[in-house]
Amino acid sequence: MAPFLVLAVIAVLAGGLHALIFKPSRLQTEDNEEPFYVASLDSIFERHLRWRTNLPRVTPFYAVKCNNDASVLRMMSALDTGFDCASKVEIQQMLSLGVTPDKIIYAHTTKPLSHIKYACTHGVDMMTFDSEEELLKISLSHTKAKLVLRIAVDDSASKIRLSSKFGARQESVGKLLGCAGELGLEVIGVSFHVGSGCTESLPFQQAITDARRVFDMGFSEVINRTLDELFPPDSGVQVIAEPGRYYVESAFTLAVNVIAKRVVESREQRYRSVIWGPTCCSYDKVTNSCWIPELHVGDWLLIDNMGAYSVSSSSDFNGFERAHIYPVVTAETWHTLNLSDIYDIRQ
Ligand SMILES: *Cc1c(COP(=O)(O)O)cnc(C)c1O
Repeated sequence: MAPFLVLAVIAVLAGGLHALIFKPSRLQTEDNEEPFYVASLDSIFERHLRWRTNLPRVTPFYAVKCNNDASVLRMMSALDTGFDCASKVEIQQMLSLGVTPDKIIYAHTTKPLSHIKYACTHGVDMMTFDSEEELLKISLSHTKAKLVLRIAVDDSASKIRLSSKFGARQESVGKLLGCAGELGLEVIGVSFHVGSGCTESLPFQQAITDARRVFDMGFSEVINRTLDELFPPDSGVQVIAEPGRYYVESAFTLAVNVIAKRVVESREQRYRSVIWGPTCCSYDKVTNSCWIPELHVGDWLLIDNMGAYSVSSSSDFNGFERAHIYPVVTAETWHTLNLSDIYDIRQ
């Protein structure tokens, strides 16, 4: 890669986007315009330590769908977290990394029958449900399942709302538990998702009161207090959570090369800009509106906080390759966690 010269450092707050712009110090002649990520494993480690300090009673089960890059999954396994898998392939991926089935929760409430059978034959027992139909499927394919009832909660304060699609309403909880009993299935707990990117604590308090079960970081005081009130440590109830975004969002920085530009309006030194991805699809847009200095073809943009739902939802549509991932880690973390046991260094 050609040497970079930093000309401008900006923090764009629109949509939480933080960008650094790198201008190449000379005109690019080599083919070095492919985007790539730098993935900081230390950032994940640091998040893990913060989680343990702030939510000591809540065991994280990392949500694989948030970022399923092998470097992330291996790091999580080094940190000895559990895993929230949503499909047969995600379960397979974790088992192939040597994760034991008791560390996996199959946390999709609507599962294909064949995926439930796969979970059964591979010893993955913990799984969620929110409907009678799901209970029927599970009773046909995995009678030893340990079920977790997912309930719908108030998710109006979140970036991505999930309770319109998933979760049983309060009114149907009694009926569902009765149905599980009739089918001879064991229900071991309750789960909920306040929505991805939730920015308020009240929905958590509300949801714990409803469900008596929870997690998340910035609101740990409320969470711990409500848990202690409703489920004191001696109640015998084990509390787990399924964080995704929390662990990986800040670990990934995306570097993209400006391959084209189109001037829409120009007034000031900074321009209200749209950043488009390279494909023919009009949804392929990084941000709608951010204020940045003028960019030129060949410039590089570094975009922070790109670890959540980026790698895992990217595609090679139009033949544009997915961005490569370059994991980095300090020697200190490498030795502290004995990572040579887990990462194949020849890769
Ligand atoms: C996606 C998902 C998560 C992770 O959500 P984040 O907002 O990324 O933390 C956890 N649990 C379930 C059931 C999910 O579907």
